[in-house]
Amino acid sequence: MNSPTRPRPQPGILDIAPYVGGESRIEGKAEVIKLSSNENPFGPSEAAVKACRDAAHQLHRYPSSDHAALRAAIGEVHGLDPARIICGAGSDEILTFLCQAYAGPGDEVIHTEHGFAMYPILARAAGAAPVEVPERGRVVDVEAILEACSERTRIVFIANPGNPTGTMIGGQEITRLADGLPPEVLLVLDGAYAEYVEGFDGGASFVEARENVVMTRTFSKIHGLGGLRIGWGYGPAHVIDVLNRIRGPFNLSQAQQDAAEAAVRDRAHVARCRKENARLRAWLTDALRGEGVEVDQSSANFILARFESPEEAEACDAHLKSEGLIVRRVAGYKLPQALRITIGDEAACRRVAHAVAQFRRERAGGSR
Ligand SMILES: *Cc1c(COP(=O)(O)O)cnc(C)c1O
Repeated sequence: MNSPTRPRPQPGILDIAPYVGGESRIEGKAEVIKLSSNENPFGPSEAAVKACRDAAHQLHRYPSSDHAALRAAIGEVHGLDPARIICGAGSDEILTFLCQAYAGPGDEVIHTEHGFAMYPILARAAGAAPVEVPERGRVVDVEAILEACSERTRIVFIANPGNPTGTMIGGQEITRLADGLPPEVLLVLDGAYAEYVEGFDGGASFVEARENVVMTRTFSKIHGLGGLRIGWGYGPAHVIDVLNRIRGPFNLSQAQQDAAEAAVRDRAHVARCRKENARLRAWLTDALRGEGVEVDQSSANFILARFESPEEAEACDAHLKSEGLIVRRVAGYKLPQALRITIGDEAACRRVAHAVAQFRRERAGGSR
C-alpha cells in the first residue's frame, strides 16, 4: 500500500540534477578574472545603471504588470509587434512558462547533445521527459531532431548560436526543421547570443511566418544585466496569450523594467560590445589555435577550446586557476575535453592566451 509519511514532490522533480553555474572564486586568490558565465566584460549601459538607481525612489510602488513601456521599446528597436512580446525574470522564466504550458507527464521535450542545461531541467520540472538528440561535430543536426520526433513530442529547444559550442545553423536549416516538425510541436529558438551576430534577427522572421515558433532573448549577455534577471520572448499571439495566463502579474520589478528599457535603447553600447567581442574572439581563437588547441568558429561571446583529452582539459583548467583565471569546464555538456572561455576584455584575453601557451609548453617539455 502506498502511504507516504511525508510530502512528496511531483513525479520527475527528484530526477533533476540541479543547475551548476559558473564558479566565481578561487581558494586563496583575492583577484580573479571570471570568464565562466558569459558575462559582458564591459558591463551594462550607463543609462541602464541610472534607470535602475532612479527606480529606487519608487520601491514602495508595485511595478507595471503589463510591461508596456519595455515591450514598446523592444518592439521599436527590433522591429517587432509589442503585443506579441512577453517579458520575464531572465529568459529562463520564459523557457519555464513554455514547458509548464506546453509539456507535461507523458510528453517529450527535445534538446540536443550539447544543448543548454536548463532545457532538460525545465522539461522534468513540468513532468515531461527530456529527449537528447545527437549533434554532428558540435553543430545542431536538424535531421537527427526530426528523426527523434514522436507523437509525444511537444517542444523542441535549440539555442542559435549554441551554448557551450558557439556554433550556429543557418536559415535554411531552421526552415528545414520548422517545415519538418508537426504543426502542433512548438519550436523554441533560444537567441541568448543573437545580438553577437551582426544583422541576425534571432529567428524573429520564423516567428512571423509560423504558428508554432517562439524566440527567446535575454538582457543577461550583450546587455550586461545578468544580475538583474530580465529576458523576453516573441511568439504567435495564441502562444503569448497562453504564457501570460501563467505569468505572475508582478514578475518583473520596475527597476528591472526601467533598466532593460534603457539598455535596449542604448544601441551604441550594444554595437560597441558586439564589435569588441568579435575582435577579441578572433584574436583569442587564433592565439589558442597557434598553441595547437582546437577551437571551432564561435558566433557568441565565448569560445570552446578543445584539448587532446579530458585529463588535459582538467590540467589546463587547474593551470588557469593558478593564474587567477576562471573558465568553465563543460564535462556536464558531454564535452569533457573542452573548456568554455568567455571573451573578456583585452587584458583578460591576453592573460588567457599567455596562460594556455605556458601550459602547453610546460606539458610538451614534461612529456619529452
Ligand atoms: C545565458 C543563456 C540564457 C539566458 O538566461 P537568462 O535567464 O536570461 O539569464 C538562455 N539560454 C542560453 C542558451 C544561455 O546561454
